[in-house]
Amino acid sequence: MTIIDGKQTAEEYKAALKQEVKEFVAKGKRPPCLAILLIGNNGASETYVANKLKTCHDVGFSASLYRFENTVSENEVLTCINELNFNSNVDGIIVQSPFPNHISPQKINEAIHPAKDVDGFHPMNAGRLQQNKPCYISATPKGIMQLIEKYKIETQGKHCVVVGRSNIVGMPMSILLSRNSKPGNCTVTICHSKTVDLASFTKRADILIAAIGSPELITADMIKEGAVVFDVGITRVADKTAKSGYRLKGDINCDEAAPKSSYITPVPGGVGPMTIIGLLQNTLLAAKNAIYN
Ligand code: NDP
Repeated sequence: MTIIDGKQTAEEYKAALKQEVKEFVAKGKRPPCLAILLIGNNGASETYVANKLKTCHDVGFSASLYRFENTVSENEVLTCINELNFNSNVDGIIVQSPFPNHISPQKINEAIHPAKDVDGFHPMNAGRLQQNKPCYISATPKGIMQLIEKYKIETQGKHCVVVGRSNIVGMPMSILLSRNSKPGNCTVTICHSKTVDLASFTKRADILIAAIGSPELITADMIKEGAVVFDVGITRVADKTAKSGYRLKGDINCDEAAPKSSYITPVPGGVGPMTIIGLLQNTLLAAKNAIYN
């Protein structure tokens, strides 16, 4: 059994990104620039944004943070996005989720120009992904694909079960693994909250990807012997013994599942660090594609 080290892999990709940025800037280009919009003061979002800003800094990107109160109107956020769409000093735009209820994720995602949509959530990028055309691939599935490559995990002909069908993780993940490419060529089953008898599907997975957001919902008895297991879920679970008052839990009980698996990602330190890498790779690509830089 191998524990997939997302942290170490991300460090290797970070070094490669840093070198690419250096070469890009040496050609007389300005460094790639990511604009991050953050609404409200959700603790987890603050942490994710701080990590994104730090990693941008580490690889030589510039990054700017646009903060909004929880009560900000949808129009104000859309106006900010529109200005950034036209700002030739900005290559990528992301809005940290979750949003307050009065702000429509769909409107926000569709407001970002597809050429600056480095999260890959715009329907244009999602559609191009489905058609196997060049596009910005959603960062988490992109990160998982890179872990599959790095660990030389065979995917062709394998049965992959993706639990979760969000536009951010589950759906693009299922598309990537079912595409006629390498990695790819899996037979993919997608499960969701209405799936009856989830275990009957997960038990047949050669590759299991859990993107649910329900701590340790998937137990060892639901996993096939020798399966490759990716745990995307991250939930803060209250724990008085932890300094922060909480612990991060995945969708899978890693301690129990690990002995049954051939490869498994821990939480934290598995998929999470590669998500930031995927985002930064997309931003560098946007900077390279930009006609104004
Ligand atoms: P969503 O809430 O958008 O989607 C969750 C999916 O899980 C839905 O499709 C839902 O089904 C399904 N689901 C919920 N309950 C069950 C159940 N009991 N059985 C089977 N399926 C179920 O979440 P996201 O996709 O955005 O994120 C999922 C998790 O991954 C979260 O913990 C999130 O924090 C984490 N995450 C981690 C990232 C990382 O970098 N590691 C990046 C992004 C997300 P239905 O469609 O029917 O509602």
